[in-house]
Amino acid sequence: MQRLAHYIGGELLPPASGKFIEIIEPATGKAYALLPDGDGEDINAAVLSADKASPEWANTTVQRRAELLLRIAALIERDQEALSEAESKDTGKPLSLAKSVDIPRAIENFRFFASAVLQFSSECHPMGRDALNYTLRQPLGVVACISPWNLPLYLLTWKIAPALAAGNTVVAKPSELAPYTAYLLSQICIEAGLPKGVLNIVHGLGEKAGAALSQHSAVKAISFTGGTTTGAAIARVAAPAFKKLSLELGGKNPCIVCSDADLEKCLEMTLRSSFLNQGEICLATSRIFVEQGIYSKFKERFLAKTKELVIGDPLEMRTQQGALISKEHAEKVSSCIELSKKEGGTILCGGRRAALEGRCKDGYFIEPTVIEGLHQGTKTNREEIFGPVVTLNRFDSIEQVLSQANSSEYGLAATIWTKSLSSAHRIAHDIHAGIVWINCWMVRDLRTPFGGLKSSGVGREGGVEALRFFTEPKNVCVDLAEEL
Ligand code: NDP
Repeated sequence: MQRLAHYIGGELLPPASGKFIEIIEPATGKAYALLPDGDGEDINAAVLSADKASPEWANTTVQRRAELLLRIAALIERDQEALSEAESKDTGKPLSLAKSVDIPRAIENFRFFASAVLQFSSECHPMGRDALNYTLRQPLGVVACISPWNLPLYLLTWKIAPALAAGNTVVAKPSELAPYTAYLLSQICIEAGLPKGVLNIVHGLGEKAGAALSQHSAVKAISFTGGTTTGAAIARVAAPAFKKLSLELGGKNPCIVCSDADLEKCLEMTLRSSFLNQGEICLATSRIFVEQGIYSKFKERFLAKTKELVIGDPLEMRTQQGALISKEHAEKVSSCIELSKKEGGTILCGGRRAALEGRCKDGYFIEPTVIEGLHQGTKTNREEIFGPVVTLNRFDSIEQVLSQANSSEYGLAATIWTKSLSSAHRIAHDIHAGIVWINCWMVRDLRTPFGGLKSSGVGREGGVEALRFFTEPKNVCVDLAEEL
């Protein structure tokens, strides 16, 4: 079986312990490669190599850094077929999705930050003839980038690209459940001529390699995307050491459908926002609120469309619903569906493991599931399921839907469907969410701030926010007064 390697100090290296863990293909339930079971020793080697590379990289011109990022982007583009196939095999996501979203977005992340860093400027605060303040924005040094399994290369590069562009050296820890494209990226970085130690990728388990990375005293900042519980564990370690922290965490995102919505477009997009990537997207809709007057019509048509979704082998281009990431995660999602029944919910469609034949007979497939009849206090409506499961809820007024939607401890994203400008703006203003889409979903401009409120995280990624996170502002005050 193929053995993947860490990327440390510009080289592909085996784990110090010599231990490996199996990588499972979710669509088949079978192991297909071996991953280094990284530990504190590997992390230490990676941090030392990043530390060594740091002064030179920090002093490399932004033009040169941008040039290298563009070269990496071009190589990802050259290899996009192979990367898409690897991403689909590793995660269970439909190949069509990896081709149209994941890999193009990884290319865009590098291109965007290569350009953004050339435009990045700092502030100047003149005090008339007396003094002049100018603010330097200097790289932090060694930073950690820890990313999840649902959009592996997309989210890893969303962190690495701004960190490198801003002049930091990076130690990255991808999810052990979907590490393959990160391994391919390390080969690409070698080919692109990225100086040794500027980017290091250590594989392994979160509680071992991930924890060692966040605890390392030479790591100055942690950019983390993942579950809220893990984010809290990292914050407990990082806060006493005064590390800079950016946490992009879970969501329980509401989709609000007013009776004057463009129903055709709303149905298409809500199907997508609920079930794209098997619902394993932090921005996915999990609670749909429909205004009383159109509830029955919406329900009937939404169910019909959900039942038409094609569940199948992720590598087949016609497949719309692939496999969930792991056996454990599929079991968790199934147990959430069972719990919803005990809480009084009615399963309107789906609700079961999907039985496939042939190559995928042991894969982790779950039917897209729609549940009705649950109040907002239930666990089903409160806790993140992160699978192909949505609840249908009704509302009578904007006040009521805002109070229902905002009752969640999360506050990542919200979607509003209405033709009324005033309703749209009123809801957008009062909803607890860091990202609000009106009559659309997942329309992304990489310049905009990205992140959540409440238990959905701390800090913002994207555009200038990311470059600010990855730099330390230092104010320099120059006395301009003439000598006495
Ligand atoms: P996890 O929190 O389990 O893991 C995220 C990453 O952290 C993985 O690389 C994991 O490694 C690592 N990790 C786990 N434990 C620790 C630890 N103690 N110290 C340091 N690192 C650790 O999340 P998932 O991978 O399960 O991803 C799903 C979650 O991510 C969902 O809650 C989802 O909402 C959230 N998410 C949020 C997004 C946002 O932008 N707000 C975007 C996408 C997802 P390993 O996998 O090897 O355990």
